[in-house]
Amino acid sequence: MKKTCPVIASERSYVAEKEKFIPISEYYGEDTFNAKIMKVKLPRDVFKKIIEAINEGTILDIETANIVAHAMKEWALAKGATHFAHWFQPMTGITAEKHDAFIDPFGVGEVIERFSGKQLVQGEPDASSFPSGGIRATFEARGYTAWDMSSPAFIRRNGISTTLCIPTAFISYTGEALDKKTPLLRSNKAVNKSAVNMMKLLGDKDVKRVYATLGPEQEYFLIDTDYFYKRQDLVLGGRTVIGAPPAKGQELEDQYFGSIKERISSYMHDMEEELFKLGVPAKTRHNEVAPSQFELAPVFEEANLAVDHNQIVMDTMQAVAKKHKLACLLHEKPFAGINGSGKHLNWSLSDNKGNNLLNPGQTPHENIQFLVFLVATIRAVHKHADILRASVGSYANDHRLGANEAPPAIISVFLGDQLTKILDDIERGKVTKATDSEIIDLGIASLPMVSKDNTDRNRTSPFAFTGNKFEFRTVGSSQSISFPAAVLNTIVAESLDYLAEKIKDQCGKNINMNQCVLTVIKKEMKEVKAVLYNGDNYTPEWEKEAAKRGLPNDKTTPVSLKALITRKALEMFDGYKVLSNVELKSRYLIHLERYIKDLEIEAKCMDSICLSQVIPAATAYQKGLSKAIIGTRDALGKSADLSAQQELLKRVTELVNKIYGTNKDILAKIAAASSVHDEQKKAEMLCSKVKPKMNELRDYVDELEGLVDDELWPMPKFWEMLFIN
Ligand code: ADP
Ligand code: MG
Repeated sequence: MKKTCPVIASERSYVAEKEKFIPISEYYGEDTFNAKIMKVKLPRDVFKKIIEAINEGTILDIETANIVAHAMKEWALAKGATHFAHWFQPMTGITAEKHDAFIDPFGVGEVIERFSGKQLVQGEPDASSFPSGGIRATFEARGYTAWDMSSPAFIRRNGISTTLCIPTAFISYTGEALDKKTPLLRSNKAVNKSAVNMMKLLGDKDVKRVYATLGPEQEYFLIDTDYFYKRQDLVLGGRTVIGAPPAKGQELEDQYFGSIKERISSYMHDMEEELFKLGVPAKTRHNEVAPSQFELAPVFEEANLAVDHNQIVMDTMQAVAKKHKLACLLHEKPFAGINGSGKHLNWSLSDNKGNNLLNPGQTPHENIQFLVFLVATIRAVHKHADILRASVGSYANDHRLGANEAPPAIISVFLGDQLTKILDDIERGKVTKATDSEIIDLGIASLPMVSKDNTDRNRTSPFAFTGNKFEFRTVGSSQSISFPAAVLNTIVAESLDYLAEKIKDQCGKNINMNQCVLTVIKKEMKEVKAVLYNGDNYTPEWEKEAAKRGLPNDKTTPVSLKALITRKALEMFDGYKVLSNVELKSRYLIHLERYIKDLEIEAKCMDSICLSQVIPAATAYQKGLSKAIIGTRDALGKSADLSAQQELLKRVTELVNKIYGTNKDILAKIAAASSVHDEQKKAEMLCSKVKPKMNELRDYVDELEGLVDDELWPMPKFWEMLFIN
């Protein structure tokens, strides 16, 4: 492959930039119709009503909606918007939008810009082309989008077009959720109710609201677009299906937190500028472990906003990359043998006063409250580890999970030594009277001081307590965080309710509240402590130990997805009104179908690459080699030592045969699977029969890559893509 030097696309020079430097605080959120703007643009009573509606989750009356829509339109027009779009998150995992011009016919051959309250509040995109997992067959194809007031409308610029985007939920006409947002909103309600009840039970009488907070750390790769477009596998599936790891990968450990290259820094600057305008708090940027891998971590926000913002982050990362002639790869495992990308989902709960409920706190009361929320979370993960695993299941993420670099498919909880000891002490009955001084003696109040060092050390845990929040590390880089967050909210709501009942039972026996709580925790920890693990999750010993403890270890997505349709799952999601049985079953099917499609796309892509690129390159090389052998013999006579060339030729020929044969085998197996109508069986069949063959095929191709003349190799190699930028 002819090497090309990347073009640094940024036309913006440092000097020119410096001239027009504007502090972030001055333009932060300027492209969002947020509370600050609404306060200025809306009459006082209307502003009050909308803030109330946002906080209480109530519905706006049509007159108010009309006034808000008018103000929003005027604001958007001033920003250059010609269209509005209901922006939603269908089950494809990416966002969708249908644009409508603001125009309304007026008189003969004339139009005026108009935007009504009705258009703001509700849209009617045809639902028939979005994945519905069978809901469509049972119900009507029509769907509607409903304005989600808790996430501000924003301006999206794309080339010369400017659109006002209105975040919405997407629902079928009969009320089934067809998107990722609806269950999250419902789970927020569920966890709010259960957490507020718990806090009241623990004596906090004036708590009004509890909400989940999320901080998703987004990993990504950047490569030059020149290389990207020369690789069919990257363009079509986001992952290199063939390619040998480079001689130098991440073993020198010189990438992580290393100084950021100029081209990348410029990209990050541009990308973050866009995010700041959209009110996305993109706080931290750094080089990640692998070459050409980076991370962006935002300041955490309320769950719904964080989910929308993460979708905007992923979109913006990809859009701005193009301007810098870079391709942003969000795939979980773009390069085999090189660190994959995840999305550490930091999760906690906060009350309306802004107190983090997973903060150990300084007073005995805060300590008790912390323990209850902590134990509720541990119990939730223990009980529903299978659902958590399923919530991040995808064909792409399977390349990463359990591959000795990412958490395994076993979901365990890391607490660190201090906290483990505290729970042990409680379990062993160290506290007998639960007086304030005994609670202080447990050492919870001093946790914040010591926990940071502790928690930072374990990077192998899928679900780690990191001082004042949990970090769910199994989530894939390209995935929407919505479902994993909705699962967390729901399972914790359930455990809070369960613990509340137990505490109430105890209190019936007339002991003080602290004593009740500690007695309950003591009992509960016995039941759930199997899920706690502070050691190295990447080791085979842990796998064995986890099996002994009875923890689920669903290594592949098709098997893990079954966790969504167990009785336990169906009852819980339905009971908490997060997903009805019909909705949950439809999601299970959507994920299965997606798995099948992703695998088939990769297999077809491999077929095309092998037959039209790899084998022709190999045969060209074979031809050159055989010519050289014959020519050298002619020139030097029979005594010439041609053993090296002959050996090479032999191996290349063998590999071509193996590649051809294995590829054919893969296609035959896919054809056989296509006659299986049960999606579960089909996905499992593809996973167990086709996937190993694809790995085998890859090994042959990668060996060939190392033998064939580099000039003949038809696509960029890893070292080029990963080190030239
Ligand atoms: P760590 O070094 O343990 O990963 P950081 O302070 O760097 O911790 O935070 C990582 C991410 O966690 C950030 O995106 C941050 O906003 C988020 N985070 C911090 N506190 C919370 C919280 N209470 N709820 C949710 N996310 C949080
Ligand atoms: Mg982190």
